[in-house]
Amino acid sequence: MIRPLWIEVDLGALKSNFQTIRKLVEPKTKIVVTVKQSAYGHGMIPVAQTLAAAGADFFGVGSIEEAIQLRENKIKQPILTLSAVFDKFAEYFIRYNVRPTVVDLSFAARLNKEAAKKKRIVPVHVKVDTGMGRLGLYYSDAYDFIYELAKFKNLYLEGIYTHFPAADTEREFTNSQIDTFNKFIKELEEKGITFKFHHCANSIGIVDYPESHFNMVRPGLILYGIKPSAKINLSFKPVLSLKSKIIFVKQIKKGMGVSYARVYVAKKPTQIATVAAGYADGYPWALSNRAKVTIKDSYFPLAGRVCMDHIMVDIGSRNDIKVGDEVVLIGQKKGLKISAEDLAQWAGTIPYEIVSGLSSHIPRVYKHPRG
Ligand SMILES: *Cc1c(COP(=O)(O)O)cnc(C)c1O
Repeated sequence: MIRPLWIEVDLGALKSNFQTIRKLVEPKTKIVVTVKQSAYGHGMIPVAQTLAAAGADFFGVGSIEEAIQLRENKIKQPILTLSAVFDKFAEYFIRYNVRPTVVDLSFAARLNKEAAKKKRIVPVHVKVDTGMGRLGLYYSDAYDFIYELAKFKNLYLEGIYTHFPAADTEREFTNSQIDTFNKFIKELEEKGITFKFHHCANSIGIVDYPESHFNMVRPGLILYGIKPSAKINLSFKPVLSLKSKIIFVKQIKKGMGVSYARVYVAKKPTQIATVAAGYADGYPWALSNRAKVTIKDSYFPLAGRVCMDHIMVDIGSRNDIKVGDEVVLIGQKKGLKISAEDLAQWAGTIPYEIVSGLSSHIPRVYKHPRG
């Protein structure tokens, strides 16, 4: 690493967050750890290996490619893809022993045909919509679809699930989704259609809606130590830090501008440190003139706009800060803390986008758990 920009991933914190989730749900409840999009930017394989060792029951991925990557790295647990896949790729689910999310009959028919050819029974999870408006038929339109699915001889209806769009902001709506899902499952049971697993809880569901746990939950954000809502009072530990170094320091005079569009103008003589991180690394441009970083024992403000691969920081009159000093963009050190939630708030976005948007070209350095 010559350009000084890296991500530190604390796998011990990840393991501890998994254990916290384990305690929040009933012992019989299965945990699907969500590792899609490079485990929210943390790096899928080391994260998956740590969670497998910690006792994860299932892995949730966003694509069949991610599932194959897990298999090629010796992850043995059941894997569920949480998105829809074109019919022509149905065969991969059999070849790599991966559970698909089924949302339409043509995919199911293709999968059933491929499974029959290989004399296999493929477990699938059916997704229904109870208010997200995304994948899956709206539940009231889904009965016939599920009756048809139940006829396929080589598919096993292992799971049924739904997803919350607004569990952090709309309690009544979310409770009514849980009710609807319960009734839906009961009606199917009355028709003789049962599923081994029922699931709907994402992170916020797990921490804030115990009645949404059923017998399977799907945590993402809280695994990575990020809170889905500021109100939550649980101690999840941040897993990711983003760090860089100062590559240049100079004095500027009162009235001089810093960076593009000169939105930052020095009110008095000061020193500006240039740091090797920018928006092409996933440090959002929207943080321009708003974010803070930590250097040594203090917070310092960004000066002006975020550039493609640089930011500038106003370090005032500090004469102990020099080229080569470490700069923490996300992370905690000496009682100072900058979280992904802080960056999201400053940038007007959500912490999911902050961590998953960190460029894959940034080297990840893994700190392994003890024991
Ligand atoms: C990503 C994802 C999750 C995890 O959501 P968090 O809010 O990060 O806990 C759960 N379910 C589905 C279907 C997902 O795609």
